Amino acid sequence: MSEKPKSDPQNDEISRRNFVKVGGAVLAGGAALGGGAIPAAAGTTPSLFPTLPGQDARIQSYRTLGRTGWRVSDVGMGSVPLRESNVVRYAYDKGVNYFDTAEGYGRGAAERAIGEAMQHMDRDKIFIASKCRVRDDDTAEQIIERVRGSLERLRTDYVDAYGIHLASSVEVLSHPGYHAAMDKLKAEGRVRFTSVSYHGPGRPEQASMADVLVAAAEDGRFDLMLLVYNFLNHEDGDRIIAACKANNVGTTAMKTAPGVLRWEPVDPDNLTEQQQQYVERMTGRGQSREAAIERLEARAQRQKDLYDRTRPFVEQYGLLTEEQLRLGSIHWVLQNPDMHTACVAFTDFDLIDKVVPLSGTQLGAAEARMLEECRLALNDQYCRHGCAACGGSCPHDVPVSTVMRYAYYYEGQGNEKYAMTLYAGLEGKNASACADCAGDCAGACPFGIDIQPNMLQVHDLLTLA
Ligand code: SF4
Ligand code: SF4
Repeated sequence: MSEKPKSDPQNDEISRRNFVKVGGAVLAGGAALGGGAIPAAAGTTPSLFPTLPGQDARIQSYRTLGRTGWRVSDVGMGSVPLRESNVVRYAYDKGVNYFDTAEGYGRGAAERAIGEAMQHMDRDKIFIASKCRVRDDDTAEQIIERVRGSLERLRTDYVDAYGIHLASSVEVLSHPGYHAAMDKLKAEGRVRFTSVSYHGPGRPEQASMADVLVAAAEDGRFDLMLLVYNFLNHEDGDRIIAACKANNVGTTAMKTAPGVLRWEPVDPDNLTEQQQQYVERMTGRGQSREAAIERLEARAQRQKDLYDRTRPFVEQYGLLTEEQLRLGSIHWVLQNPDMHTACVAFTDFDLIDKVVPLSGTQLGAAEARMLEECRLALNDQYCRHGCAACGGSCPHDVPVSTVMRYAYYYEGQGNEKYAMTLYAGLEGKNASACADCAGDCAGACPFGIDIQPNMLQVHDLLTLA
């Protein structure tokens, strides 16, 4: 698999113009880092990152995915928000050959988008990893049926890997139905390798990401895994990667960028579309417009505080968009040769054009300094995916890390509907309990996050009308 994929001759060069027609709704550039563009400070280098004329860049580095022996692109494609097959084709044309998906992403929509692109790709030169959640009492037959559903949506005879999605305990790694299903499907040539993914506990009784994934690495039955890994949240990831290396297990990263920095002022007479939607949701639930605006202003103030913290390094390094910070985060992940592919949730051509030039390149000294300053500025603001250190402090068992992860889907990935739907699924275990709580979680976060105000604002953000 050292050879890069080539464009299908039938596949005309997909132009931006074409994409705008097909998927204009998702063709959004990075929002300005704050209220407006920031001029680069005198004497700084405006471009921190390796750049090439976007449409000419291709993947430069392929790494061996553990014992699978596959040579996968250092930049892979995640697909939580994926709905457009043209984006898959475009990534493929750039040399991306690793595609991570799941039956649950968009209730099959992500798999369908990859499936629609399948006829334009050389199946032998791409690695598709899909997965599903398994319940305790799922039988092998039920899991086999679900894999067949994935194959149908993906329009392929086989998946390269099929895994346990969100494995929240060490015990689930031995799920008899899953292993029996995989044995049968491997014998039929429908599945080649087994995998596991986990981003940490959503409830206090669930195991940590490191406990589950280190056990999976040592288990011997899993060939690759998907874990959270970024410059603000890598200590557990480093342990897991070491265990994978010792056992020749493939490593793939998710949530490679920790979030966004945005401050949107609130002008009650001239609300943005998103603010207007928020007000409509709140008034639809019986709140007054004034109360909704007040909440919006409180959220804007919190964002402004965060924004102010970032000013020194933003101005020093001449960052113009929050997307640049995201690029730096992804670039940081690519520096670890033992992380075989960093999955990026591509939703448009622009982001592909910006991320692909990072492939195979070194993190510059200025970029590394910028990320370190960012880490210092945001350390007590970033709720780590997968962490549950504060869990025992909440008498109402509110899954803080999970709620904050949904906020990340909303704000960080722009996947608003998905985030709100997931949040609605928490039912009695959401952050509504925080409104009348004495705040027992105060001081429970080892990173210094002030949990209660964050949870109140996130609850407002994610609550469906
Ligand atoms: S608030 Fe702090 S302790 Fe709680 S999940 Fe987030 S990072 Fe972990
Ligand atoms: S504010 Fe109360 S209910 Fe909310 S997370 Fe903290 S302890 Fe739990």
